[in-house]
Amino acid sequence: MFTVSQLKDYLRCPAQAFFIHELRRVPSASNMALGIGTLFHEQMALLLVGKYNKVLAQLPSWKLCTDEVQDAYMKHYLYIVAERYYINPAWEIIHIEKALEDPGINLQGRLDAIVKWNGKYWSLQWKTYSNDLAGLQEKVRLGYHEVAYQHLASINGYTPWGGTILGACQKLPSYRMAPDRRSKYMITPEDRQAAFTTHYLTRSPDEQASLLDNLTKHLERMSRDWALRLKNTDSCFGMFGNSRCPYFQVCHQGGSIGSGNYKTAEPRY
Ligand code: SF4
Repeated sequence: MFTVSQLKDYLRCPAQAFFIHELRRVPSASNMALGIGTLFHEQMALLLVGKYNKVLAQLPSWKLCTDEVQDAYMKHYLYIVAERYYINPAWEIIHIEKALEDPGINLQGRLDAIVKWNGKYWSLQWKTYSNDLAGLQEKVRLGYHEVAYQHLASINGYTPWGGTILGACQKLPSYRMAPDRRSKYMITPEDRQAAFTTHYLTRSPDEQASLLDNLTKHLERMSRDWALRLKNTDSCFGMFGNSRCPYFQVCHQGGSIGSGNYKTAEPRY
C-alpha cells in the first residue's frame, strides 16, 4: 500500500520516490526544517494529551537533533506555542497519530490527530508558513493529504466528517523593525504567540469526490509503474530551476546511493 507522501514524491520523480521510500536512503546532512517540524509535532501531540510539561528534553527527538536545530527552536520561541496554546475545550481528542488504510485503493495514512467537534470528526494538522496564510489554507484544504484522510476516516467509521482544523504557525524572522522604522528588536514571546492561528477548513462533497477520483487514478498509475523507477529529469533542478536534487550525484555523476552522503532512514508510515 502507498501513502500520499509516496505519491507526491512519485509525481515529482519516480526515481526519487524509490530512493526515499523503498531504499530509505536520505541525505546525511541534517535537515533544519525537518528537525524543527518533528520537534513541533511532538510537542503539540504531548500538549493534546495533557502531557506537555514545558521541558523540551521530554520530546523524543530533542536529544537526536543537532545543536543547530535546538538553538533555532529556542531562538524562534517555538516552545511558546505549546505553552500558551488555547485548546478549545469543546474539542474531544479521539486519537493521536491514528493509522488508517483502504486496501481497495491501495492507500494508507496516519492522521496527526482526530478531533470530534460540533458533532463531526476533524483532522487536526499543524503547518508552518512564511507570509501567505490564505495560500496555506487553500493548499491544505485542496491537498491530497487531507482528501486522503477524509476518505480513510470516513470508510473507517468516523462520520460525519467535518474537515481540517489547521494550526498555522508563521515562520518569523529573528528580529522586526520597530514602529519608528529606524531601529529593530528581537521578536518576543508575544510575537510568537500572535503568529499562531487556528482555522476550520472544509471541502464541498463535489470537491472531495473530484479530488478523490484524481488521487485514486494517480494511485492506480503509481501501483502499476512503481517498479519501473523512471527518472523525471525535469525535476533535477527543482520547480524553479534554482536548486539541485540531492540524488543528482547518484543519477548523473556515477555516485553510489550506499555512500556516506546518504543515511538509512527509519521506516515511515
Ligand atoms: S536527480 Fe533527477 S532523476 Fe535523479 S532522483 Fe533527482 S530528480 Fe529524479
